[in-house]
Amino acid sequence: MNGLCRALGAGLLALLMGCASTAPRPDCSAAHAVPWQAVVPGLWVWQPDVVGEVSAANAGHVVPTSVVVSGGEALVIDPGPSHRHGLRVRDSLACRFGAQVRWVVNTHAHAENVLANSAFADRLAAGQLEILSSDGTRSAMQQRCAACLASLGERAGQGAMAGTGIVLPSRVLKTGELLRVGPHTLRVLPPAPGHTESDLVLWDEASRVVWAGGLVVDQRLPELAQGGVDAWLSALDRIAALRPRHVIGNTVSSTLDDRALPPAVVVTRAYLAELRARVLAAMDEGRHAGESALITMPAYARWAGYAQRQGFNVQRAWRELEPVWMERGPGQ
Ligand SMILES: [Zn+2]
Repeated sequence: MNGLCRALGAGLLALLMGCASTAPRPDCSAAHAVPWQAVVPGLWVWQPDVVGEVSAANAGHVVPTSVVVSGGEALVIDPGPSHRHGLRVRDSLACRFGAQVRWVVNTHAHAENVLANSAFADRLAAGQLEILSSDGTRSAMQQRCAACLASLGERAGQGAMAGTGIVLPSRVLKTGELLRVGPHTLRVLPPAPGHTESDLVLWDEASRVVWAGGLVVDQRLPELAQGGVDAWLSALDRIAALRPRHVIGNTVSSTLDDRALPPAVVVTRAYLAELRARVLAAMDEGRHAGESALITMPAYARWAGYAQRQGFNVQRAWRELEPVWMERGPGQ
């Protein structure tokens, strides 16, 4: 039906035909194309040009935006950092794929992932799309988004963030719920704390694609923001047990070897396991939390965010693991 409606190209007729949207098409000659990369048929990602921290140079685009497109409909996962970014996604979907966005999913409550909800506010108000997240993410966005918007503006630049408003999810996803876009079925797995208090995991079993939000990284230091080391490691174990071929998180990682995991799952796990081991070893040596700056991890020193976050991660891990260490006793 949607293809027919586009062909007819008349708003009134489209309405009479019961089309999903009567929104005018953008000026595609002026739309700034998105360099979409195909992951599997119907699934595309827009990755940052360079792995890095939020800066004016990248306008806050530091995590991938992904879309599932079929039959003139699109589902957007983590629309990005700003109104401008979200509009570019929306216009590109209309111009390149002839698709209207019907669903936006927020994997977790971080500014660089969710603030582009702003670009879909009009369609949300018109009842033409839903914005979806876990209950924990919606609550966290209510609490933190104002501060996150201000913070992102300081780092990415006010120009990059122009027009960005806070738009909260309109519906909470239930564990086990299925999101269907054409041939793709995305299952909502139980939210996993780890990177934040509630990290959404979606699983497309037929395509063996898992969406892992901020739980999977590569070349950019993990951020123990509101989560914890042990919960994060458990979440990665559950993701690994799915035997995904592709993982879309803070990076996009794939394997051609069905016996192997996408490399980013392996390296994220390795960082967290080493962090855990080194913090416990420091406790064994009688060090205290004030000396946590002594815990360096040179293998990751070249990763983006190491200078900014390694000390913070150690502090977070120390606080979490102190009771674990006291419980088990030293040196075990
Ligand atoms: Zn995040």
